[in-house]
Amino acid sequence: MNNKERKEILFKIYSENFKFIKENSSLKDKFDKDFGCFCPICLDYFEKADLFDKINPLTIEHNPPQSLGGKSSVLTCKKCNSEAGHKIDDEILTALKEIDTLNFKPNSEIKTQFFNDSTEGKGVNAKIKIQDDGQFIINIDTKNNNPKIHKKFFDSEVREYKSPLFSNDIREIGWKKKLTFNFKKPNKTNERLASISLLKIAHLMAFEKLGHLYLFNKNNQIIRDQIRSPEKEIITNPFWIKYNFPDNIVGVNIITKPRKLRSILVVFDLKTKSDSYRFSICLPGLSVGDENIYQNINDLLCQGNGFENAEVNNYINSEYNIKDVEKTFDLVRFWESFVEKQ
Ligand SMILES: [Zn+2]
Repeated sequence: MNNKERKEILFKIYSENFKFIKENSSLKDKFDKDFGCFCPICLDYFEKADLFDKINPLTIEHNPPQSLGGKSSVLTCKKCNSEAGHKIDDEILTALKEIDTLNFKPNSEIKTQFFNDSTEGKGVNAKIKIQDDGQFIINIDTKNNNPKIHKKFFDSEVREYKSPLFSNDIREIGWKKKLTFNFKKPNKTNERLASISLLKIAHLMAFEKLGHLYLFNKNNQIIRDQIRSPEKEIITNPFWIKYNFPDNIVGVNIITKPRKLRSILVVFDLKTKSDSYRFSICLPGLSVGDENIYQNINDLLCQGNGFENAEVNNYINSEYNIKDVEKTFDLVRFWESFVEKQ
């Protein structure tokens, strides 16, 4: 399937979802727009004619990013895809790659600087690569370094001789070269931006799963504002839960209990070349008061409470399908009949 066909299929699914909501709600009178769908980040409305618009068309956004093993996709407008997108998507990739290397995981690599007495406070640029079999490859390029410092660094190696009289290990015997140095912990990641990219992944996953009913929930205006202005501190409390949820919870679920934690829980895995990382992000629920979720998470953390007792319901994850338009209102029905009564 090519990109154009994929775009048209996604457009059809989401515009049918909106059409069904419009025809079965008070939006019918308020909304006289034609068949179309909304960009889940800026909430601009796109008709079919805008799908291939020259200035700001709808674009296919891979979510989670393909570079982190994402296979799904949603439509966002070109502006949001490039503006909000690239600013923060790269940050989470950089952050996870750094964790890989600092934990010496196979297939990871990192650029850093080596220091010892010979480098006179200036570092030697180096690349550390950890191979599949766990072997370290260190590359110190002459081209990327001041030739003087580079030479001094290698001249600082110490030669020492180990006599067979004092060693039982045959590999230890003879002349050895020894180069001692420290290296800086890489610190390229902007953790704030990396965390906003997690929020964006969760938001787009919730939209992909639940469609426009999720998007029209006014409690999550704050989410879109934060994604659109990642450098601003709009959500100041933690929006993630550090708890290792099992595989059957990967996807879009609802925390029903305790009341303070009631929210839409999005759990997903991001995969680097070396490892897989599981994240759990809370998005506000549909009821009045649910917009306080991040303050509540913060309060619970401050009180030293974990999330072991949180009850997670995976009805939506296993039963709800955006393509089944007749089920469009199931989220609201389920919320009113089950979640609010908990
Ligand atoms: Zn947009």
